[in-house]
Amino acid sequence: MVGFTPEQELFRRSVVEFCEREILPIAARCDESREFPLHLFPLMGKLGYLGVKFPPEYGGAGEGSVTYAILAEELGRASAGIALGFYVHVALALTAIAAFGTPAQKERYLRPGIAGEKIGAWAFAEPGAGSDPGSIACRAEKIPAGYRITGTKMFTTNSPFANFVVLTASTAPGQGAKGLSLFIVDRGLPGFTVGRRIETLGMRASQTAELIFDGCVVPGEALLGEENRGAGTAMQTLTLGRITAAAYAVGAGRAALEATLQYVKQRQQFGQPVGKFQGVQWMLADMATALEASRLLTYQAAWLADQGLPHIKEASMAKLFATETATRLASDALQLHGGYGYVMESPIQRLYRDVKLFEIGEGTSQIHRNIIARQLGL
Ligand SMILES: Cc1cc2nc3c(=O)[nH]c(=O)nc-3n(C[C@H](O)[C@H](O)[C@H](O)COP(=O)(O)OP(=O)(O)OC[C@H]3O[C@@H](n4cnc5c(N)ncnc54)[C@H](O)[C@@H]3O)c2cc1C
Repeated sequence: MVGFTPEQELFRRSVVEFCEREILPIAARCDESREFPLHLFPLMGKLGYLGVKFPPEYGGAGEGSVTYAILAEELGRASAGIALGFYVHVALALTAIAAFGTPAQKERYLRPGIAGEKIGAWAFAEPGAGSDPGSIACRAEKIPAGYRITGTKMFTTNSPFANFVVLTASTAPGQGAKGLSLFIVDRGLPGFTVGRRIETLGMRASQTAELIFDGCVVPGEALLGEENRGAGTAMQTLTLGRITAAAYAVGAGRAALEATLQYVKQRQQFGQPVGKFQGVQWMLADMATALEASRLLTYQAAWLADQGLPHIKEASMAKLFATETATRLASDALQLHGGYGYVMESPIQRLYRDVKLFEIGEGTSQIHRNIIARQLGL
């Protein structure tokens, strides 16, 4: 993969304009007030951004992972915290429904999800299960009316305002990851409560909360994909999600580099811009090189996915490298802004707090090293 098509370049320009108009001006305020800008859902739906990679028959644009990664990169550059809300909605909840949903489920959730009229969340993690799906304890017991769900979910982003949740639960206790199934659960069902909102270091524009299921009965049609095949369904969704996470990290890394390049040209010390010092120039050269490598890995993984070629290893490599690079870039950016990067008015401190989450969500760096090692035959 060597470049983008003219249509993709045009698309990038339209997204940049959108971000500069609608996201950048509110990014700091949303972080401070811990409020997600919900009005962006229908707006992005109208512009076709939520449906970039979904089939036209449900209102999508039918584009591939590369075009979607372009959108993700620009959103990540504008605000990682706001981008996270769109990430769980599109890259996880809607992606799983588009890939494994029945036509009725797609009508009910994918179509309004693409339009930004319904918001989705992804409830996989639990108090006792994060990296290890085999530890999932949330139970979905088969009953004549469908399934009865009991358990607690942790860190469900978007859940304070989501209309539905794609939930992973055990349908075969004792079978670990082999007994998992996915369900689409509507907000407001009896026995489904959104619990406490969780305070986080960064990503404060997004909202994440605990979910409590206490005998919540869902109909049989709520099952997404095949019963007891949920681990595979979730992993396929997460593999594509990883490319998006990598693209967000590329965007956030770019924001760090761009801001720093600008700053070192105007900040004067010892009678000259600090960017004239070789020590500073070498840091920026390393930042730019690492960022370019992140971009190449990310768009290569997206391109492989679009070609229908194997991309598990490449998606993990992109996610691992791009997210660790973004953390390093945000740290170096803060260093090169000196004390002015550390003050609360600076967008760099927000970036520094936000990007660390990329290394934890969607499989931690350690889990991606495990996946890559397995793909190497180890
Ligand atoms: C702000 C925020 C938003 C989130 N949003 C969502 C969401 O919307 N939906 C959702 O389902 N989850 C969400 N999560 C949860 C996130 O995906 C998990 O935190 C992540 O998967 C790690 O799980 P854990 O926190 O339980 O860590 P653990 O799995 O307990 O890991 C602890 C440490 O042990 C390491 N470790 C674990 N196993 C291994 C191993 N086999 N080899 C080497 N090292 C290992 C990990 O890398 C980590 O460093 C969110 C988390 C946060 C903080």
